[in-house]
Amino acid sequence: MQKVVIVGGGIIGLSIALRLATRDVQVTILEKNKCGGQASGAAAGMLAPFSEIGEDQDVFFDFSLASLRMYPEWQAFVRETSGVEFEFSSSGTLHCVYHEADLLPLSSRISWQSEYNEDMRILSQEQVLEREPHLSKDIKGAIYYPNEAHIYAPDFVKALIAACRNLNVEIYEQIGEVEIVEGSTVRLKTDTMEWEADQVVIATGAWAMKQGEALGLQLPVYPIRGQICAYLPEKPLVSHIIYTSQGYLVPKANGTIVNGASEDIAGFETTVTAKGIDRLKRWNKKMVPALEEITPFHEWAGLRPATQDGFPFIGRLTNHPSVYIACGHYRNGILLSAITAKVVAEDLLGEVVSFPLQAFHPERFS
Ligand SMILES: Cc1cc2nc3c(=O)[nH]c(=O)nc-3n(C[C@H](O)[C@H](O)[C@H](O)COP(=O)(O)OP(=O)(O)OC[C@H]3O[C@@H](n4cnc5c(N)ncnc54)[C@H](O)[C@@H]3O)c2cc1C
Repeated sequence: MQKVVIVGGGIIGLSIALRLATRDVQVTILEKNKCGGQASGAAAGMLAPFSEIGEDQDVFFDFSLASLRMYPEWQAFVRETSGVEFEFSSSGTLHCVYHEADLLPLSSRISWQSEYNEDMRILSQEQVLEREPHLSKDIKGAIYYPNEAHIYAPDFVKALIAACRNLNVEIYEQIGEVEIVEGSTVRLKTDTMEWEADQVVIATGAWAMKQGEALGLQLPVYPIRGQICAYLPEKPLVSHIIYTSQGYLVPKANGTIVNGASEDIAGFETTVTAKGIDRLKRWNKKMVPALEEITPFHEWAGLRPATQDGFPFIGRLTNHPSVYIACGHYRNGILLSAITAKVVAEDLLGEVVSFPLQAFHPERFS
């Protein structure tokens, strides 16, 4: 039986592990701290490729849309395999603009996006307010993306962990730094433990540059801090994802509204700053004025794994053929986890890979 060790227990590592565990593979996850304890547990959980990628169609957009389309089936599989409940909501998104001049870019956005046969359309201010009466009257119009969705990321990660355990994935947490030693098989060592593998997957998110260096690879992955907060209004204020150029609101089934997120550079620091949260609060009143009267009940931050060109790193290393890289999913790792897991599992098992991965090759900067 083939042995695969995955380094990093975020949504990318866990999803790959789960995919492989459905096949004849012995899977182990090595997590420095706590599975889901970094970016994956901090995310707003939007599955929103049309809102996120508005400029032009490219391979990254195709990858993202393919992942969105896989989500209903994938999350149902995770629910069934784990026995753990989590929210998956097909709320749709209102992608809102504030100036008459921005209505034209909305038209050009929809002109290429509508080729993807999703039932999207432009709504006037009146139509937007009909759907969402608590939104600001400063909003001039929106694109309605009915097929965008969101998931409650912290619970989804818990379900992935449970599903992995149910399919006999071995999970080691709090193990500190792992050293990779290559031979006929690969060995992974800490000061006190050792594992052996036929193939290793590096899924260490914002920390991947370090593993790249150890393998002589230039892997430009940088941590971009996202500060984010949540409100608990007395009554529901929005029912769709409200997406704008400066911030978003995601209404969760537990009555909270998740409001994100800053993009700042602070090394590997995950503290929240007054400046970061104040910027969100200032913008919120331009989305939903009633939010000005409420204080967020929870504030937190996570580190998005950004890459130099915005594309993830997915692929096998030429000089280290037992080592596979899967990291750098930046703002869309929750969305992209479904397809990443599928293609990485196919590649590791030597099968035909169902999406072309050349543009995401991890050696493209080396
Ligand atoms: C505020 C915020 C909001 C976001 N909102 C969304 C959203 O709405 N939709 C969306 O799709 N994406 C969103 N994202 C992005 C998404 O969270 C990330 O792209 C995704 O979580 C990356 O997953 P990952 O598994 O690569 O990284 P992580 O979740 O960071 O996991 C990497 C893991 O590797 C471990 N690790 C690091 N070094 C080592 C080592 N040497 N040995 C062993 N383990 C190690 C870490 O401890 C960590 O657990 C958001 C991110 C943030 C911060």
